[in-house]
This record gives sequence, structure tokens and C-alpha cells, in this order.
Amino acid sequence: MKLVRIYLLFLYALTNVVVTAQHENNTSADDALKKLMDGNNRFVEFKQNYPHQNKVRLEEIATSQKPFAIIVGCSDSRVPPEIIFDQGMGDLFIIRNAGNVVDDFAMASIEYAVEHLGVRLIVVLGHERCGAVDATIKGGELPGHLNRLTSEIEPAMLSAKRAAGDLLTNVIYSNTKRITLQINSSEELLKEFVEHKGLKVVSAYYDLDTGKVERIP
Ligand SMILES: [Zn+2]
Repeated sequence: MKLVRIYLLFLYALTNVVVTAQHENNTSADDALKKLMDGNNRFVEFKQNYPHQNKVRLEEIATSQKPFAIIVGCSDSRVPPEIIFDQGMGDLFIIRNAGNVVDDFAMASIEYAVEHLGVRLIVVLGHERCGAVDATIKGGELPGHLNRLTSEIEPAMLSAKRAAGDLLTNVIYSNTKRITLQINSSEELLKEFVEHKGLKVVSAYYDLDTGKVERIP
């Protein structure tokens, strides 16, 4: 009887370890941000390591993934996250669309990576001369679904309109910060992780001329 109890306790412990391991991701938000910024510095100087882009990595991540950061970026072909942060396969969980906006499906993807894969850093990445933001500023009727997209960016434009300096840059900043706030306060899952489980959401800006990524305060 005693042996059975010990065996059951052992089984219980083992199950717990397996369940914990599945959700565990060892990279904190600060470490993840440092990793990204270090990678971007290598990219800017053209001293890339091109990590995790070989057969060993392919096999390593074939049955599970453990990305260390989520990037919410623009679809713009000049801003590919793995390249500008000098990362490889299995490193970044990426959501991209024109204007880096977040709808329910994008939010669900973010939630999956936070809750299920244990990612603790989200970077909302706006970029210089964003076409989606530019189209919003120019206004007017657009074909297809494009109006739906610009209407999502419009509130950022209205709040940035009175600021001094270049309007396009200001709206890109404002849009990026607005999306960051939207993710930060998303009920009920992400807000809980931000407040109690070490999740950080930061805004950043990519410079098309230099390749540099900088935090937006
Ligand atoms: Zn863009």
C-alpha cells in the first residue's frame, strides 16, 4: 500500500514537471529586449551572426517552439524582423500586417504566444515612411478593404495632428504607442500577464535609412 502511494506521488510529480516544462520559457522580458537590441546592433554594423539558420536548429525545433519575443510589425518588405534583429528559426513569434495594427485575430496570436509558449516580451515595431500611415494621412476613398485599415490608424492621426514636427513620423509614433497601449490593457488575459507575470510590451521604431531600431519612450 505504501509502495503504491509512493508510486502515485512520483507519477504526480512527473506529470507536474512535464506540464510546467511545456509552459516554461526561460527568457525574461529584459533579457529578450537585450537580445533583440544586440542583434539589431550586429545588423546595423553588418556583423551578423546569422544564428539558428542551419540543419541542427531545424531538427531542434521540429516538434516544439520556444520563441523569446513577439514582434508586432508592418508587412512592409523592408522590415523583416528576423533579418533586422539578426535572429533565426524558432526565435521570434511574428504578427505582421500593413500598419502593424491589432485586430481580434492578431490579439489571439499574441495571447497564444504569451499564454502557451511563455513569451514575456512584445515589441510593437513601427517604421519610417510607413505606407499605411501615409495613406491614412492622405485620406479619401480607397478601394477594397483599405478603408477598414486606415480607419484603424485614424485615431492615432487625430491625436498626433497638433504636435510639432513631421506629421508622418508623429502619426507613426502615435500609432505604435496606441497599439502598445491596446495590447497592454487587453482584457482579460494580457492585462493579467502584464500586471502579475512579468510580461512587457514596448514600442519601437525602425529607421529605413540606417537599419537602426530605437525604443519609443
Ligand atoms: Zn508600414
